[in-house]
Amino acid sequence: MLEQLRVIVQEVNAAKDLQSALDIIVHRVRESLKTQVCSVYLLDSDLNSHVLMASEGLRKESVGHVSLEVGEGLVGLVAKHAEPINLRDASLHPSFHYLQETGEEDFHAFLGVPIIHHRSVLGVLVVQHEEKRRFDEGEEAFLITLSAQLAGVIAHAEATGAIEGMSPSGQKTSDTAFPGVSGSSGVAIGQVVVIFPPADLSQIPNRRARDIDQEIEFFNTCLESVRTDMKDIHDRLAGHVAEEERQLFDVYLHMLDDDALGNEVVARIKLGNWAQGSLAYVANEHVRTFEMMNDAYLSERSVDIKDLCSRVLFYLQQKESVVTEYGENTILVSEELTPSMLVEVPKEKLKGLISVKGSGNSHVAILARTMGIPTVMGALDLPFNKLEGKEVIVDGYKGEVITNPSDQLRIRFQNTIEEQNQLIAGLEGLKDLPCETADKHRVSLWVNTGLMTDVMQSLDQGAEGIGLFRTEVPFLLSERFPSEHEQTEIYREQLQAFAPKIVTMRTLDIGGDKSLSYFPINEENPFLGWRGIRVTLDHPEIFMAQVRAMLRASIGLENLQIMLPMISNIHEVNSANQLIKKAYRELIQEGHNVKFPPVGVMIELPAAVYQTQALAKLVDFISVGSNDLTQYLLAVDRNNPRVANLYTAFHPAVLAALQQVVVLAQAEGKTVSICGEMAGDPGAAVLLVAMGFDVLSMNASSLLKVKSVIRSISLDAAQDLLDQVMQMDDAQMIRSAVDLTLYNAGVDRLLRSSRTN
Ligand code: PEP
Ligand code: MG
Repeated sequence: MLEQLRVIVQEVNAAKDLQSALDIIVHRVRESLKTQVCSVYLLDSDLNSHVLMASEGLRKESVGHVSLEVGEGLVGLVAKHAEPINLRDASLHPSFHYLQETGEEDFHAFLGVPIIHHRSVLGVLVVQHEEKRRFDEGEEAFLITLSAQLAGVIAHAEATGAIEGMSPSGQKTSDTAFPGVSGSSGVAIGQVVVIFPPADLSQIPNRRARDIDQEIEFFNTCLESVRTDMKDIHDRLAGHVAEEERQLFDVYLHMLDDDALGNEVVARIKLGNWAQGSLAYVANEHVRTFEMMNDAYLSERSVDIKDLCSRVLFYLQQKESVVTEYGENTILVSEELTPSMLVEVPKEKLKGLISVKGSGNSHVAILARTMGIPTVMGALDLPFNKLEGKEVIVDGYKGEVITNPSDQLRIRFQNTIEEQNQLIAGLEGLKDLPCETADKHRVSLWVNTGLMTDVMQSLDQGAEGIGLFRTEVPFLLSERFPSEHEQTEIYREQLQAFAPKIVTMRTLDIGGDKSLSYFPINEENPFLGWRGIRVTLDHPEIFMAQVRAMLRASIGLENLQIMLPMISNIHEVNSANQLIKKAYRELIQEGHNVKFPPVGVMIELPAAVYQTQALAKLVDFISVGSNDLTQYLLAVDRNNPRVANLYTAFHPAVLAALQQVVVLAQAEGKTVSICGEMAGDPGAAVLLVAMGFDVLSMNASSLLKVKSVIRSISLDAAQDLLDQVMQMDDAQMIRSAVDLTLYNAGVDRLLRSSRTN
């Protein structure tokens, strides 16, 4: 059974489009279960029906023409309850709906299982028999397992059709929404540019070849280079390795011959696709075919194809420095966006971002928020490499990508963009006004930075200090550890630009999802592993160089604070304090006139929440990292889009933890701030002010939005709201209560979470 399942799934995976996938399914399932009929019905939302999309056993002419309205017949019942129905004689069931065109009158036994992807029922897989007998348990289990495995493939094939404007049953369709999660709020409409890491065949997008003849010539030159390489290797290996191994290179050479791979690639280029896309297409097809083979030797050959094609790709990418053209309204799409990808696009052209992987609290999303670019993360079902050049809408409020937008929808979203621009223009006037509640309670609004450009933007937005400088950002953009001198320069720039305002520098926080190419950390469970302070205490030389650089950079400015990330116990703080003192003493001995800076800890782990008081005794200030705190309290990976719906800082447990940190820090008379992303959420900010946080530190583009909301509400009203929500036991209810308060305070709809488009 297991083997049969594997083979079917692989074959379906390799299908070129939805129809072929469905045809394979009905053929293979009928064969495996030895039934007389196997059919697939898929939901077509535009028609509000389940359409018979493929069948073996029912009349061929009915396929594609027969459909059942949603809820109609046994198929409708299976879909409605999202549960299998297994009947000895279907005709006796009250929901049975006889479809004359199919010729199903002879088949009595019926087993239908739902095809479910991400909680939604895509359709129903049905097997039927003449004989009056229930399908046995094994058959039912087989069909359920298969359906669960195929749902993703079917969803992907449907999605690919949808972005071409086609519904599953071939009707014209538009406004197909692909859900993801919000990475950065706002709406953008534009043309997609797919960006991909080099040397990865699986991520190359389809792109139009500019000049087909030139493209073929270019491909052939690259192919020739690989051929030469192969011959060289073949010759060099003579006498060094066994003859069979040397023969592998003969096989490669053979595969490169004109009538093999090369020719297929050229044929695809002739259809208009560029050389890289054509090569990737052919390579992926062959890889899939080989992988499907039952023979272990043959299926291993897929590795050879990948290797060979990667070599050709290398030349294609090396020889041609592809100048990616960015249009006026570029929507950058990638399987996994990285911070360095964002900086490649001219800022004025970059209108929106979409990442298939990652979630709202991934670091790239944080960067997008800093830059104020509407972003959707975790759009898992988006066929991203088929989107090049297509128009899409990025709905960063809802966390949704819309392909093939209709005129009507485009106008609606254009209006939202207009409204957005007006809101931003209206907020400009707040820059120089103090951040205080309507009844004059003063709150400090600071910013989070990573790059120098953030600093400039922050100052422009009226930031009163830096609550978190993520020092790992320059480390991430470097190719080796920056030297003490280089770090001093970087830190000095930030300190100088903000002086005399305070700049809080966090010591290097790598690990988790932030790994340095030159210092790789490979772990099973990186978020529970070697992260933040754990790494730097194990490498005092890295820690010392950084702290020395920070202290040197602050000479004469004296606006530095040092902050320690990922603290889980007091020993880490004691050790870090000792190292900071050591660095200070060294610099004094070297004759520098350094001032000892305030030191603080981040509360990011549940353990630290309970130890706030003990930790506060050892330091000068406390700062909550609510991104990680939420992740660890709720046991929800902040990067994983599958569980993104569970990640919310409005969870009562998170709010209770935050309140406790404030109380405990205040009991020690220490300043308490928050520098996680929730501080930049206008609704959350109101609760944080009511809790008693002294400082809210956020990305620069949230600053004026938060200020405008705080200024429109009194501290009394905020505290009443806090009292009310602290009695609630559900995150959604809390969010609604906050929204209602903002609504009553006249806050703009784009600053509330319950906005409707
Ligand atoms: C946090 O965890 O809330 C935080 C500010 O740190 P980072 O997002 O960089 O992990
Ligand atoms: Mg953190």
